[in-house]
Amino acid sequence: MEKLIILGCGSALPASGRNPTSQVLEHNGKYFLIDCGEGTQSRLRENKLSFDKITHIFISHLHGDHYLGLPGLISSMQLLGRIKDLNLYGPPGLWDILELQFKLSNSRISFTINFHSIEEETELLNTDSLLIRSIELNHRIKCFGFIFFEKEKPRRINGEAVKNAEVPHFFMENLRKGDDFINTLSKVYANSELTFSPKKSHVYAFCSDNRIKNTFHKKLKDVTVLYHESTFLHSELARAKRTFHTTAKEAAELALKIKPDLLVLSHYSARYSDIGPILIEAKKVYPKSILAKEKLIIDFSKL
Ligand SMILES: [Zn+2]
Ligand SMILES: [Zn+2]
Repeated sequence: MEKLIILGCGSALPASGRNPTSQVLEHNGKYFLIDCGEGTQSRLRENKLSFDKITHIFISHLHGDHYLGLPGLISSMQLLGRIKDLNLYGPPGLWDILELQFKLSNSRISFTINFHSIEEETELLNTDSLLIRSIELNHRIKCFGFIFFEKEKPRRINGEAVKNAEVPHFFMENLRKGDDFINTLSKVYANSELTFSPKKSHVYAFCSDNRIKNTFHKKLKDVTVLYHESTFLHSELARAKRTFHTTAKEAAELALKIKPDLLVLSHYSARYSDIGPILIEAKKVYPKSILAKEKLIIDFSKL
């Protein structure tokens, strides 16, 4: 995973300067779009993110602030002449909504949308470099988060050492996989003499609307970057409980149990024109907290 780009950090009601939930996770030059609130396609344009690079879209639940931008984005993909398949993951009802929209607007989508209905905690995608799982959240309606597990990365070639050992070019891939090298005189070079350890593999968890349960941290134990909603300040705890949301303090207490490199707070209630106090509240419990904001880019290689 290279980067996480925040496109929206608001919640259900509009707030000046904040957009509803959406973000792009960049992996091997492809974009995974996570949630698609109203106006997401405009945010993609503003951030110069190509629609065509979006290969997978993940929708957490069917509250409008998490998916209402999707029919518009798909229509624009069609207008732009998209050919490649789109993989869409979301609640079962999402496909019904899209079909009705396309039927009533007499739209014909000429590219293939592979819809994957999420109804339980399960593996969604497993490639050479990444494993993606759904995680059930505790919200007013069925809601899932997503965990992206980066697999172990290849070892890094030590340029000077391979030159001195005269390792042939064709053997570099073996070195990256961890093989030792034996030269024509049968001299053995341990892999560790010729390579550096791989870059850190990250585990990113996207947890949108959620009232945290006691056992929740166990499911997130390996997470290195935790995105968790923090809709309210703790002074609004009663409201948070009633609406199945989380306070900044509670999100930070969850992070304290998991100890990620970073806690990314988001989904702020429109009642807060200044979100500074949300960060202050979280940092008192978990100092490695930051606020998601529009256009924030998190570079995983720097964590
Ligand atoms: Zn929401
Ligand atoms: Zn919701």
